[in-house]
Amino acid sequence: MSQQTRLLELCSLAVVRYGANAQIRQCAEECAELGAECLRVHRGRVDHMDAMYEECADVLIMVTQLAVLDPGRMEHHLEQKMQHLEELLGVRS
Ligand SMILES: [Mg+2]
Repeated sequence: MSQQTRLLELCSLAVVRYGANAQIRQCAEECAELGAECLRVHRGRVDHMDAMYEECADVLIMVTQLAVLDPGRMEHHLEQKMQHLEELLGVRS
């Protein structure tokens, strides 16, 4: 089983077990933790690089759980953001 498939399965189970509201709160908390670690690394604290990536993993897991809650809405916004980035980068076909 690929890591992506395991992630989706685990996130689906987590949303069912803990409920949407709890996972939305947890997502906010993990995003705040990632922000703090990004700012530490940005200020030159390279000793926090591993912590930053650990928080990236937490946020990826929580964002995936939010995506599982409403895949259609997630896909819609992801597509819009990707198109915007393509325009910024000048790679839009
Ligand atoms: Mg965390």
